[in-house]
Amino acid sequence: MSEIVCVGCGIKIQTEDPGKPGYTPKAALEKEEVICRRCFRIKNYNDIQDVSLNDEDFLKILHKIGETKALVVKIVDIFDVNGSWIKGIQRFVGHNPIILVGNKVDVLPKSVKEQKLINWMRRQAKEYGLKPIDVFLVSSSKGHGIKEVAAAIDHYRNGQDVYVVGCTNVGKSTFINRIIKEVTGEGDMITTSHFPGTTLDLIEIPLHDGAALYDTPGIINHHQMAHYIDRRDLKLLTPKKEIKPKVYQLNEEQTLFFGGLARLDFIKGGRTSFVCYLPNEMNIHRTKLEKADSLYKTHVGEMLFPPRKEYVESFPELVPHEFTIKSKKTDIVFSGLGWVTVNEENKRVIAYAPKGVHVALRHSLI
Ligand code: GDP
Repeated sequence: MSEIVCVGCGIKIQTEDPGKPGYTPKAALEKEEVICRRCFRIKNYNDIQDVSLNDEDFLKILHKIGETKALVVKIVDIFDVNGSWIKGIQRFVGHNPIILVGNKVDVLPKSVKEQKLINWMRRQAKEYGLKPIDVFLVSSSKGHGIKEVAAAIDHYRNGQDVYVVGCTNVGKSTFINRIIKEVTGEGDMITTSHFPGTTLDLIEIPLHDGAALYDTPGIINHHQMAHYIDRRDLKLLTPKKEIKPKVYQLNEEQTLFFGGLARLDFIKGGRTSFVCYLPNEMNIHRTKLEKADSLYKTHVGEMLFPPRKEYVESFPELVPHEFTIKSKKTDIVFSGLGWVTVNEENKRVIAYAPKGVHVALRHSLI
């Protein structure tokens, strides 16, 4: 039975240990398409089970990519480019060409200029020591840009295999399902869900010329905001609809809370408007700076939510990042959450995010 793999995630099926990846009850082997219990539960109940696959195993699987000649397609979530970056990806890639794909473009406000975003992604890649041969923006769920990427993949792969890599939750499975549809016209074959860490082991998708496209497991990046909140609330961080900006006119010494996940203090610079690009359902709360600390202590887990109350204790502390905004039209980016645009220069702010979550400035995308 060693050759049976799960049609959902590609893991080798086993019937001995329910606590290990790939478990399925013996009776389920009778079915034409065998699916592991983990994928079965995700599919039918949207319920994720923890399995014992660690970072080291993920790295081992990825390591061999560098040793083969292939095209690498790296997917990032455009809302979480830093949080969803696979550190050391150039090591896996070796000398192989790499295409960088920014996914979930459908949630961006229409006013975002795609070319600006592409340029920004190129600069980010360069900062991480990566030189992609091409950069694309797509919406895997809506199909935007998929044809173009499919054509580019076919062009750059030069008859060789393709490895699709990405951190968990960037939408890699959704992307591959789209690509398969584009290439073969088949329906959904790979499990997709909200929950980080649902794609296990390599899935091989044969291409017409004997080469193959491989879906690799998603590395769990522990700096992703998504790991700090309950899975029931993940939909708050994975917007499905175009983000509607919310504008706040702040005086000096006022604070905005983004749920209980992040905070922005306006320190100095005179009355200023802050345009918040966050998931539409995210609760934004305004208060006075002098009250902010005690408000957070009292109300995190309730009014300032997520995190849920029962998670507050294990939720990482919010760490301050101080910035002086020096140029017109600057975005303060909270990795995995969204960003706040400030249109004027000479403003001093302190941005708080959970310890380990990236906060940075960039030239505004709008
Ligand atoms: P994987 O862990 O990288 O394989 O990610 P999945 O394919 O399971 O997707 C993770 C989450 O992102 C799911 O909730 C998807 O519905 C969502 N998602 C994937 N692609 C897109 C997209 O293009 N736009 C939006 N808005 N959501 C997406």
